[in-house]
Amino acid sequence: MRKFVLAIFLIALIAALSAGCAKGAGNVPDVLHEESSAGNQEPAVETPADQPVNEEVDMDGAEETETGEEPAEEPAQEEPVKRYYMNKIYDIKPLDEETDDRVVLLTFDDGPKDLEMIQSMLETLEKHEAKAIFFVNGFRVQSNPELLQMIHDAGHAIGNHSWDHIDLRKQTDDVIRQQVDDVQKIVEETIGVKPLFFRPPHGSSNEFLRAYVKEQGMLFMTWSNGSLDWDRNHQKPEAVVQNVLDQLRPGSNILMHELPWTVEALDELLTRLTEEGYGFVDPFEIRIDTEEAAEEETGV
Ligand SMILES: [Zn+2]
Repeated sequence: MRKFVLAIFLIALIAALSAGCAKGAGNVPDVLHEESSAGNQEPAVETPADQPVNEEVDMDGAEETETGEEPAEEPAQEEPVKRYYMNKIYDIKPLDEETDDRVVLLTFDDGPKDLEMIQSMLETLEKHEAKAIFFVNGFRVQSNPELLQMIHDAGHAIGNHSWDHIDLRKQTDDVIRQQVDDVQKIVEETIGVKPLFFRPPHGSSNEFLRAYVKEQGMLFMTWSNGSLDWDRNHQKPEAVVQNVLDQLRPGSNILMHELPWTVEALDELLTRLTEEGYGFVDPFEIRIDTEEAAEEETGV
C-alpha cells in the first residue's frame, strides 16, 4: 500500500515537472530567436562602411533573403532566365525571336550620393515596373552603404564604375586592378553579392582593363544612348527626355546619372518610352558572356 502511494506520488511529480519543463522550453527559444534576429539587424544598417562591421551586413543580407523568401532553397532564387545579350555596340538584343526587341536598358552612374534622389528614382522605377543598373563608385559606397542596400533591396543591379572615378585608360595595370577589385569587395561586403557589370568612367578604357573585367566575370559596357545629363548645356529635365528620345532605337543602352534634373525627368521619360512601345530590360536577364563581349570589343 505504501509502495502504491509512493508510486502515485512519483508519477504526479514527474508529470508536474515535465509540464513545467515543456512550458519553459517553449518560451525560451522564442524569446531568444526574436532578440537575436533583432540584435543582428539593427547595428548593421546604421554603421558606416568599416571592414569588420560590413561582414555583419553581409550575413544580414543573406539571412533576410532566406527568411523573406523560401528558407529551404536559397540558390534557386537568383536564377532569372537569360533572354538578352549585349552586342558589340552595347545595344541589348533578344536571344530568340519570341523575346521583344523593343526594349531599353536603363543605367544610372556615379552614385550612390543622396537619399532623396535615390528614393525618388526607386519610386519612379517601381511605378513603371522598371529595373535598372546603378553603376557605383567605391568611395561613394563607403560613405553611403545604406543607399546601396536600398537600391539592391529594390531589385536593381549594381554595376562597378571604379573606386575613384578616374580615367582608367591612363593608369598602370596595378592601379586598374585595385580600382576594380576594391569596388567588387565593398559591394559584396555591403549587399552580399558582387557586381556583374562594369562601366569605365568617361567610357575610357584600354585592353588590359577590358580583359581584367572579363576575368572577374563581369560584362563590360559603355553605352549606346547618352542622355547628356552630364553636359552643362543639357541640365534640364526636358533636355534629358529629348536627348534620349532623339537617339532611341530598339536595344538602346541609356546612360544617365544620379543628378537632380535627371531624377526630375525620370517619370516623364519612362512614360514617353512606354508610349513609344518600349519595355525595360531586367539587367539580370542579360547574358554575361564575357569572352564574346571582350573579343568583339577589341574589333571596334
Ligand atoms: Zn561616371
